[in-house]
Amino acid sequence: MSINSPLTLISIVIPVFNEEQCLPELITRTVAVCKDLNYPYEIIMVDDGSSDHSVSLLREAANSDTNTITAILLNRNYGQHAALMAGFSQAKGDLIITLDADLQNPPEEIPLLINKAAEGYDVVGTVRIDRQDSLFRKTASKLINCLIQRSTGQNIGDYGCMLRAYRRHIIDAMLTCHERSTFIPLLANTFARRVIDVPVKHAEREYGESKYTTMRLINLMYDLITCITTTPLRLLSIFGSIIAVIGFLCSLFLITMRIILGPQWSADGVFLLFALLFIFIGAQFIGLGLLGEYIGRIYNDVRARPRYFIQQIVKSTKQ
Ligand code: UDP
Ligand code: MG
Repeated sequence: MSINSPLTLISIVIPVFNEEQCLPELITRTVAVCKDLNYPYEIIMVDDGSSDHSVSLLREAANSDTNTITAILLNRNYGQHAALMAGFSQAKGDLIITLDADLQNPPEEIPLLINKAAEGYDVVGTVRIDRQDSLFRKTASKLINCLIQRSTGQNIGDYGCMLRAYRRHIIDAMLTCHERSTFIPLLANTFARRVIDVPVKHAEREYGESKYTTMRLINLMYDLITCITTTPLRLLSIFGSIIAVIGFLCSLFLITMRIILGPQWSADGVFLLFALLFIFIGAQFIGLGLLGEYIGRIYNDVRARPRYFIQQIVKSTKQ
């Protein structure tokens, strides 16, 4: 399939976790937007183990003939990204759009993403104009962005905004990855050739509360970092080498001063002990870092991401 092939079916995938208050408005607005599209569409709503009435609302919506909704019910809560993966496994469209259920990303922006994708982009990301989240969340995002940019040189943009569009081949590639914890926007970018970010509106959460507690946010942050890099493991070796070198220089300095100025100068050898200690601590960290390098490689192997991803094979029809 060519990457620029015309769109024949659009899939909208929405993860739902205890969103009974949002669902009626979400369904009405999303269906209204989809009906105005010039493309056939399917809406896939994945219930991520809700304990409120979300499941019955989803069943009702899926059984109704007036809209094209498929409800996927997971047995328990697996997390937003796992729920999205479950949705992807059932989506048949050649453009897949993800959307949050809480209406913070207006469904009315969907046509904008479709138009951009039709121009030939593999992934259409989004940047939230005037993000309506707490100051803590906004600052934390900025900090993580900065950290990742420093360690990988990659600017990951507004990774937290889940209103995104992915072409079929990107979804297929993501489905071949076997890792348990993943961060979809970043994983998708590793398989994409042409990515674009478009600005979209962002609203405050009107109903219910954010499903991310501080603990879950920390977990998500680890998923995000480990999804793109094993640099933190390498930092152990670098840190260790720095300590060991400092220790070595200190001991050289102490030995020289001891020879020139006599034993009193180095407190009868106490300072030298410290210097030696530094060298050993450094050596331990280097050892840990080495272990980390092996673990990093094991980690890369167990998650079994495809070694390469052929996006397209071009050859003349005469061959
Ligand atoms: N969500 C989910 N499983 C979870 C947590 C969240 O499916 O374990 C869904 C939630 O229903 C919503 C989306 O993921 O559709 C984003 O969640 P939320 O709005 O709480 O996150 P925030 O906007 O605070 O980042
Ligand atoms: Mg939200």
